[in-house]
Amino acid sequence: MVAELKGATSRGFERSVATPITVAYGDGIGPEIMSASLSVLRAAGAKLEIETIDIGEKMYLSGHSSGIAPDAWESLRRTRVFYKAPITTPQGGGFKSLNVTVRKTLGLFANVRPCSTNAPFVATRHPNMNVVIVRENEEDLYAGIEHRQTDDVYQCLKIVSRPGTEKIIRYAFEYARFHGRQKVSCFTKDNIMKLTDGLFHTVFDEVAQEYPEIKSEHYIVDIGAAKLADSPEVFDVIVMPNLYGDILSDVAAQIAGSVGLAPSANIGDGFAMFEAIHGSAPRRAAQDIANPSGLLLAGVMMLTHIGQHHVAELVHNAWLKTIEDGIHTYDIYNEHTSSQRVGTSAFAQSVISRIGERPSILPPVAYESDIRPMTIPTINRRRPAHKELVGVDVFVHSTLEIDDLAHRLKAGENARSELTMISNRGLKVWPNGHPETFCTDHWRCRFMARQSEKFDKQTILAILLSLNDAGIDFIKTEHLYTFDGEPGFSMGQGQ
Ligand code: NAD
Repeated sequence: MVAELKGATSRGFERSVATPITVAYGDGIGPEIMSASLSVLRAAGAKLEIETIDIGEKMYLSGHSSGIAPDAWESLRRTRVFYKAPITTPQGGGFKSLNVTVRKTLGLFANVRPCSTNAPFVATRHPNMNVVIVRENEEDLYAGIEHRQTDDVYQCLKIVSRPGTEKIIRYAFEYARFHGRQKVSCFTKDNIMKLTDGLFHTVFDEVAQEYPEIKSEHYIVDIGAAKLADSPEVFDVIVMPNLYGDILSDVAAQIAGSVGLAPSANIGDGFAMFEAIHGSAPRRAAQDIANPSGLLLAGVMMLTHIGQHHVAELVHNAWLKTIEDGIHTYDIYNEHTSSQRVGTSAFAQSVISRIGERPSILPPVAYESDIRPMTIPTINRRRPAHKELVGVDVFVHSTLEIDDLAHRLKAGENARSELTMISNRGLKVWPNGHPETFCTDHWRCRFMARQSEKFDKQTILAILLSLNDAGIDFIKTEHLYTFDGEPGFSMGQGQ
C-alpha cells in the first residue's frame, strides 16, 4: 500500500508537544471533510495546535484577488504547515488561483501525489497500480505570463529554469531512494519543445547518473500518458513538468479508484501544504455525503511531515481497515464489495472506531519503522555561460501578404543585420514558403548579424527605429543569444 505517504519531508521525531499548523476549511464540501478529517486525527492522538484561516470564495468576493486575506500569511509564516480543504474559485475574470499563489509564495516546488489502488475493495481496472507522481509546482505554463498580441493571437509563456528543474528532479530521485522505489520515469515533450522540455530531459539524464541503483527512463508525454492510463503498474515514480503533472496526476488518481481518495503534499524548503487533489464539489456540499479520504490521507502525509509517525500509522491502518470492511461513501460504493453506504461523518466515525486495528487483506502501512527525515536536496548553481547576442526576433502585427510584408521589413536591415526568416505560428513562411500555408496576423521576423559583423543592443534599437519609420507594427522582441556557442533559440519549423 502507500507506505510512501510517510515523510514527504520530516521536521522532527515523535513530539510530545502539540505542533502548530494552519487549517483552512475551504468551500463547498471543504468544511465537512475537514471537520471529519480533523476528528479522526484528533481521535488517533494527533497533537496539533490549530490556527484557522479563511480562504476561498468569501475572500475572493470581499476583494482579495488571490482568495486569501493578507493576515493569513502571518499564520502560515508562523506554523509553516498548511492543512487545506478545497475552495471554490468564483466564475469570471480577475480571480487568481489561490493554490498557485500559495505554492509560489511559499516556494512549494514539489507536488507529491501517491496513487495506489485498494483492490478489490475499491473498483479499478488496475489492481496492481502503485505510482507516485512528482510534479514540478512553480514553473512551466503556470508562470501565468499571458498576453494578447494581435487580433488573432494570444500567447502564454512556458518558463522552465535549470534550478527549478534540477530541484524537482533531485527531489524525485531522493524520494525514490528514501522510499525504496526502483524506478523514476520522466515525461516530457522534448521532440517539439527542444529547449524547455529539452532542458527537463537533459537535467533528468544528468541527475539519474548520481542514483545508479535507481532505474531511469524517459517517455514522450503522449505515449507515456497512454501507457500510464493503460498499464500503470509498469510505473513507479514519475517526474513531470507542471502541466503534464497536473493533468496526469488526476488521471492516475481516477484510474486508481476515485479522485475522492487521493491526497497530495506540496513541499518546499521551509513550508509544506497538504490537501486532497479534488475540488470543492459544490453540488455535493452540505449533504454530508462527500468522501473525506483524500483530505484524511493528506493529513496522514502531514503527520509524518511533522514527525507524528505513530499517529499517522494508526490513522492510515484504521482507514485501510474501514475500506476493507466495505464501509464506503457514495463515490466508491459498489454492491459487490461494499457492506455499508455511509456519509462523511459516519465514515469518519467508522475510521475512529477502528483506530488500533490493521487491515487483514490490504497490506498495512508501517511508518514507525523508519522515521528518519527525508532531506531536500540542494542544487548547485552553474557558472554563467558565455552569452553572445547574435540577432533579434521582431514580432509583428500585420495583415499584409507575406511578400509585401517581407519587402516592408527590409527597411529594418542595416550594415550589421539582415532579415533572414519570417515565420507564422512557428512555421517558416519566408523565404521559400508554401502558398497553401494558412497565416494569422502575427509574424516572427528574424534579423541576424551579418557575417563577422558585431551585433549589439544598438543594432536592435536601429532595426526597431527603422521598422517604426516604415510603419511596421512590432509588438514584441526576443533577443537571440548563443550560450557557450549553442543557440538559445528555436529555428523556424520547416527550415
Ligand atoms: P471537483 O473535484 O470539485 O468535483 C468533481 C466531481 O468529483 C464532483 O461533482 C463530485 O462528483 C466528485 N468529487 C470530488 N471530490 C469528491 C469527494 N471528496 N467525495 C465524493 N465525490 C467527490 O471539481 P470541479 O467540479 O471541477 O470544481 C469545483 C470547484 O473546485 C471549482 O470552483 C474549482 O475551481 C475548485 N477546485 C479547487 C481545488 C482546490 O482547492 N485544491 C482543486 C480543484 C478544483
